[in-house]
Amino acid sequence: MDDARPELAKQVFEYAPAPEAVDHVKIQPRYGLFIGGRMVDPHSKKRFPTINPATEKTLSEVTEADEVDVDRAVKAASKAFESWARLPASRRARYLYRISRLLQERSRELAVVETMDGGKPIKESRDVDIPLSAAHFFYYAGWADKLEWAFPNRKPKPLGVAGQVIPWNFPLLMLAWKIAPALAAGNTVVLKPAETTPLSAMVFAEICMQAELPPGVVNIVTGAGKTGSLVVTHPEVKKVAFTGSTEVGKLIQRAIAGTGKRLTLELGGKAANIVFEDAPLDQAVEGIVNGIYFNQGHVCCAGSRLLVQESIAEPLLEKLKRRLSTLRLGDPLDKNTDIGAINSRAQLEKIQGLVESGVEEGAELYQPECVLPERGFWFPPSLFTNVSQSYRIAREEIFGPVLSVLTFRTPAEAVEKANNTPYGLSAGVWTDKGSRILWMAERMRAGVVWANTFNRFDPTSPFGGYKESGFGREGGVHGLLPYVELN
Ligand code: NDP
Repeated sequence: MDDARPELAKQVFEYAPAPEAVDHVKIQPRYGLFIGGRMVDPHSKKRFPTINPATEKTLSEVTEADEVDVDRAVKAASKAFESWARLPASRRARYLYRISRLLQERSRELAVVETMDGGKPIKESRDVDIPLSAAHFFYYAGWADKLEWAFPNRKPKPLGVAGQVIPWNFPLLMLAWKIAPALAAGNTVVLKPAETTPLSAMVFAEICMQAELPPGVVNIVTGAGKTGSLVVTHPEVKKVAFTGSTEVGKLIQRAIAGTGKRLTLELGGKAANIVFEDAPLDQAVEGIVNGIYFNQGHVCCAGSRLLVQESIAEPLLEKLKRRLSTLRLGDPLDKNTDIGAINSRAQLEKIQGLVESGVEEGAELYQPECVLPERGFWFPPSLFTNVSQSYRIAREEIFGPVLSVLTFRTPAEAVEKANNTPYGLSAGVWTDKGSRILWMAERMRAGVVWANTFNRFDPTSPFGGYKESGFGREGGVHGLLPYVELN
């Protein structure tokens, strides 16, 4: 934006509606479970609706899998493991390539399903979630017959059945992060998607059938937390992979302690996005916006704490507030929408509660003028100034479009404040100086440190946390390690 012409900078453009078509998408009225290579009627007679959070309309009914269903799924995976693990690795790779191609072919449909079921803007599901999911399968297909090169002189062997539980913020992408490396290394899986976003996993089940993946290699059981706990505690499950809240991560760790199951946990975060006075401010503003308002802030590595050097706090905040007023909130299926619906009523209430606590504790709330649709779950892009490190909004994961702004004077103070959190998943540094980036990255207790960018993902790059953000890495060659036994 041109600061010399503030009248231009403040102009708000009207956009004509640009809704993505939905007539090419066929969502079944109800879904069974994907076990042993086909959709089966569940033992459990319980079903629950999955709704569109932007309209509160029911999209479909899915099954709440019970103990018998989960046992069937794990047995199917155990049986399939015998032949899948022995299949020539290049043939395993072929299946993964096939899945990747099918994800690409059905990308338009998947993007719409993801947006309708989860509330995220179509431009994000279309340009980020689905292409990255396909890229993950493509990438791990490449490793399937090269495991001896990934772990030289170590004779990597698959572990068996992996029990995988994923959250609702990136449903298909988290599925890909979990399933692709597991299969490439020769394991079979039972996956439980989140209660509020099961539909893209149901489309994925169709894709497994289309790809003629051998029966039982992938099994998908829908349900709530109870189903998840049945999956991870099943005695035949050898490896557990979980992404979600730190609270549930701890429960799982306790539940499987002493069983010999392998575990990786990818949990919450409270990342610092640090802007130094020599940073290109307009670029930094875009990075801050992407860091916290992308996917309504439902991002474990979101840059939810902005640390800005005191000398530039005023101009930066002015630019940021101006940029916030241009963000478009509304119909997630509209291609111009920047901020979609909050994933569920429960998540909306959590965000509202934390924002109230911020106001009560004394922080100053800024929200641009923003008309919220009458139906559905919505929260305007928000930022807090006058935030003290002790406030809940500076300590707890809000998982919504809410930024807490703090200031610092020296690089050492920035490091201290950035690391002053029980989490350690990601961080961002904005500066003109390469040496400062390296200096900061060395001192940051975070699994990923982005420099002059934020929320960049690539299948070749490992991702994971320290401290209460979990352990183990997903992505890259590191992402194979949790799925192999090394002799
Ligand atoms: P959860 O951690 O409860 O959900 C993650 C997954 O775990 C879901 O599939 C969930 O099922 C399942 N699950 C729940 N309880 C158990 C259990 N005891 N054993 C095994 N699996 C279980 O997150 P929530 O959806 O409740 O969100 C709460 C908060 O967690 C959010 O506000 C946010 O702060 C944080 N969060 C962090 C994420 C991250 O990536 N870091 C992702 C999601 C949430 P079900 O969906 O049916 O409950």
